[in-house]
This record gives sequence, structure tokens and C-alpha cells, in this order.
Amino acid sequence: MAKCPKCGEIIHHLNLYEPAQVLSNLGANIDGTPNYVQLETIDLVVDGDADPIIECPRCQAELFDDPEQASMWLVGKIEYPTQLPEKPCDDGSIAI
Ligand SMILES: [Zn+2]
Repeated sequence: MAKCPKCGEIIHHLNLYEPAQVLSNLGANIDGTPNYVQLETIDLVVDGDADPIIECPRCQAELFDDPEQASMWLVGKIEYPTQLPEKPCDDGSIAI
């Protein structure tokens, strides 16, 4: 059971967004309007920043960009965000 560090809600899953294309059959209804049947989702290879966005489903705060880290957090195997890599500040101190 995980608790969102931003809104404090208990959450059981996260929302994950990643770039993808959707392959659909495009047909037509009898009245001529389009009729889509979604067949497949294809991951896109994107230049540059291709990390997925993983956010809280309650408050939409972006919490992770690594699905494995996110799933470990959901089951309580890691704390948020103490085991994320620390980024040194310009003066060499560690941001809290
Ligand atoms: Zn939240």
C-alpha cells in the first residue's frame, strides 16, 4: 500500500504515459461516419528524452520516470524519494 508523497492519498497503481502509435482498422459505418477498431499499440522510439511519465492517479503529480522503481515503491520495497539518485547542487552540497 503506497501513499502519494504529494497529495497523501493511498494509491494502488500509477498512471504511466509513454509515446506510442495506435494501429486501427478504419472502416465506415452505414451512414458514412468513420468506424475505428483499435488493433495494436506500438511503442515509439523518440530522440532525446524518452523516459515515460509516471504520475499519481489522484493528483497527477509526476512521481517517477522509471517503471521498475515505481513498482518497487508501490509494494513498499523502496521509500520515496530517499533511494532516488541525489543531485549535487552547484556548491557541492546535496539538495534535500
Ligand atoms: Zn497524489
